[in-house]
Amino acid sequence: MLLSRFPRVRLAHLPTPVEHLPRLSKELGGPQIWVKRDDCTGLATGGNKTRKLEFVIAEAIEQGADTIITVGAVQSNHVRQTAAACCKLGLGCEVLLEHRVPHPSENYTHSGNVLLDRLFGANLREYPDGTDFDAAMAEVADEVRAAGGKPYLVPGGASDKIGALGYVNCALETLAQVNDMGLVVDHMVSATGSAGTHAGLIVGLKATRSNIPLLGIGVNAPKDKQEQKVYDLAVETAEYIGAAGCVEREDVIANCDYIGEGYGIPTESMNEAVLMLARLEGLLFDPVYSGKALAGMIDLVRRGEFKDAENILFLHTGGAAALFAYADQLEL
Ligand SMILES: *Cc1c(COP(=O)(O)O)cnc(C)c1O
Repeated sequence: MLLSRFPRVRLAHLPTPVEHLPRLSKELGGPQIWVKRDDCTGLATGGNKTRKLEFVIAEAIEQGADTIITVGAVQSNHVRQTAAACCKLGLGCEVLLEHRVPHPSENYTHSGNVLLDRLFGANLREYPDGTDFDAAMAEVADEVRAAGGKPYLVPGGASDKIGALGYVNCALETLAQVNDMGLVVDHMVSATGSAGTHAGLIVGLKATRSNIPLLGIGVNAPKDKQEQKVYDLAVETAEYIGAAGCVEREDVIANCDYIGEGYGIPTESMNEAVLMLARLEGLLFDPVYSGKALAGMIDLVRRGEFKDAENILFLHTGGAAALFAYADQLEL
């Protein structure tokens, strides 16, 4: 597995740290909990999309594109990181924002990530929930071409086999770090949404025969659908890097019990988790992804799903910019 074969632009501060969370571990009274700080990737408040964009935008540039077109929810962290990357690389950025969360507040529609998208000068277009975004992106691409530009379409979350390379790379980086630290990781846990993070990580963990099980905690789709989406992308990614067959269907595990009423809708357990990590460890988690994933991990620890002697490594995928969008909904 030689990732240097693939085009890549450098956008992230790497390696991101692996840190122990002693006060959270003590509070929960079970396994030791560690965090891989991908909230510290460095681009415009950081997050997991930056690793994927290193490969995806490099591919766009290789193909001669001058404009990136992408899609996300109004409070998309992916869109914010894409908009920042386009500024850094001198590319145009056309964004399709989906109104996916019902009854949004003023903060939701104007602050947090969408404020930063505007700061980066991305051209934002808004669409109702349930829009056919393949068709809508194709229309925007036609417009860009008609104006003499060369568009490149980045799927939601940069979750295709190219973006997933960023998380194959994260798995390799993490293994090197924990080997150096002498840390035996018994489980990895991550939020799973558009699937590129989960798929890339499982390919990296399996292709290296690390024997570290990975649990994805879902934030929108039901378990079967989420696992199938991750598995399909993992198969494609493994083929793309020349490691076909390294991931089996049963390696892909998602727990989708912590979504609550739906994508982007706060839950009590998310609220508790976000407060706990802030007040015990001085860390910021977000209401949509990392906070719900954390709520899942905390609940599973409390239920005794992990052994006391084990080490859990939680991938912090970032998203703190969205906290400001949820200022009215968090119970502090
Ligand atoms: C996008 C995102 C995720 C989910 O990653 P996917 O690759 O889309 O599954 C998790 N956490 C944060 C903060 C995100 O922005």
